[in-house]
Amino acid sequence: MFETLSDRLTSVFSSLRGKGRLSEEDINATSREIRLALLEADVALPVVREFISRIKERARGEEVSKALNPAQQVIKIVNEELVEILGGETRQVRFAKNPPTVIMLAGLQGAGKTTLAGKLAKWLSADRNTPLLVAADLQRPNAVTQLQVVGERASTPVFAPEPGNGQGDPVEVARASIEHARHNNHNVVIIDTAGRLGVDSEMMQQAADIRDAVSPDEILFVVDAMIGQDAVNTAQAFLDGVGYDAVALTKLDGDARGGAALSIRHITGRPIMFASTGEKLEDFDLFHPDRMASRILD
Ligand code: GDP
Repeated sequence: MFETLSDRLTSVFSSLRGKGRLSEEDINATSREIRLALLEADVALPVVREFISRIKERARGEEVSKALNPAQQVIKIVNEELVEILGGETRQVRFAKNPPTVIMLAGLQGAGKTTLAGKLAKWLSADRNTPLLVAADLQRPNAVTQLQVVGERASTPVFAPEPGNGQGDPVEVARASIEHARHNNHNVVIIDTAGRLGVDSEMMQQAADIRDAVSPDEILFVVDAMIGQDAVNTAQAFLDGVGYDAVALTKLDGDARGGAALSIRHITGRPIMFASTGEKLEDFDLFHPDRMASRILD
């Protein structure tokens, strides 16, 4: 992830080495190169435009610093603007005043929702929470079993319709899970919802119905960083169809070019809260914009 972007930016900065100060020409040439690097990394055009205009403005306005050479000055500006575009501060989980805190996951099939549910449960448990996983994906025959496997690995109980009870109604399951959590001292409920391969109005409606039934404290949109530009379109569709508070980016361990990570916050106005970086339950943490920016500029 970000390898190409990283390499491109490194070479942009190295072309500024040895310069005494930044000329207008340097600023223009550098901005052009950064623009190309971002576009090549699949960053959405409006985001690239905004980014470049801020870089230019700041590079022009920058006080001539004795401590930093031009290359270092540009790196500093790009770093700060990357942190900004990635969301600035790390977004923490907002716990409900009256437990259980209800966290609902939404996203396309294959985005990594079920895996993320387990990761989140394990991560929360490490902090002395007592989560309950809820199988509200009753569309795929295997989904409930898959969540049970994940629950076992995360040492977290799973609330699911009784076998033999037919398909069950995901809205009812979600509603009943809250009662169950209250009676069994689970302070967090993590609801895994059904996804489909593409954006689909029935799927959106079901997620919206679950949302209305349980009033989640956090709705997380789970999206695969590997799907590039499509991540932004899907993010927008879920924002319109279901709405969400924050984004969980998955498969950041892959060789995605990084456009999704860099675009989604700006396009949706929602922060990236979690980063998933592998198939193992430990491959998961809060998303830290400053660390991600450093990785890109490393
Ligand atoms: P769901 O359909 O949204 O519930 O997606 P799943 O949780 O079933 O995940 C789909 C596939 O992606 C599975 O094979 C997971 O093991 C894999 N997966 C999930 N998260 C990650 C991740 O962060 N990195 C990698 N490499 N694979 C992941």
